[in-house]
Amino acid sequence: MKDRAFVPTMGALHAGHLSLIELAKSYSDEVVLSIFVNPLQFENKEDLAKYPRDLDADKKLAMSAGAMQIWAPTVDEIYPDEPSIISAGKLGSKYEGVNRAGHFDGVLTVVDRLFKHVQPTYAVFGEKDFQQLFLIKQWVQENKVPVQIISAPLIRDQDGLALSSRNIRLGDEGRKSALVISQALLAARESRDPHSTMLEVLASEPGFKLDYAIVIDEESFEEASASTLNTRALIAGWVNGVRLLDNMQMSVVA
Ligand code: AMP
Repeated sequence: MKDRAFVPTMGALHAGHLSLIELAKSYSDEVVLSIFVNPLQFENKEDLAKYPRDLDADKKLAMSAGAMQIWAPTVDEIYPDEPSIISAGKLGSKYEGVNRAGHFDGVLTVVDRLFKHVQPTYAVFGEKDFQQLFLIKQWVQENKVPVQIISAPLIRDQDGLALSSRNIRLGDEGRKSALVISQALLAARESRDPHSTMLEVLASEPGFKLDYAIVIDEESFEEASASTLNTRALIAGWVNGVRLLDNMQMSVVA
């Protein structure tokens, strides 16, 4: 069978998604992009209702970026039956999972269903959602899912804000406040004590409400210690009622 590279998304496409298509093209001549807002991963009904949707614009963008097939299934197509939920385990209820019970179970359950439909050789996921990427890689490895997971670097706007479909809800003032997140990550990267530095910078912006700021070991997703070689800082929080997520590699020892 021919190789196929798959890019799963929830639509409202931006340059971050398009970079995933570009990367997918370097793995296979056949790129499939899916657009599916997965109700199972939204524990908050309002967030689900407010999630931006513009299928026509998405199709045009994805085609121009070189996706060969664009697949926008309905909820009934993906879940014709009551799905048996895949558990994301302990890590699934930490960090992003703390206030979003069942979120990562919903992510793994939909990824499993999407993979079964598309049967890709490769699937590309962004480092923007670092915990999601980690959990998908772990699930694939533990369950011998026959798909190679490709990580794509996080894409930022020129001002440093990590691109996200939710950014359009920030407004001008909110956008300014949101810049504190990438500023905190950059300052942390230059600091001997990245965790304290992040907290200090984040606290300087009254428009930002912190959810968590952590430094983890990239290999294990455990909180980093002084001897951890490959570390990454992750920040999540709220600006103007919009939840924002960002991360940056701190130190790497090859
Ligand atoms: P979403 O539509 O938000 O579910 O995202 C679909 C895919 O695009 C996921 O693998 C995300 O990690 C990835 N993605 C979203 N934003 C970015 C970004 N700014 N840079 C790189 N990848 C991204």
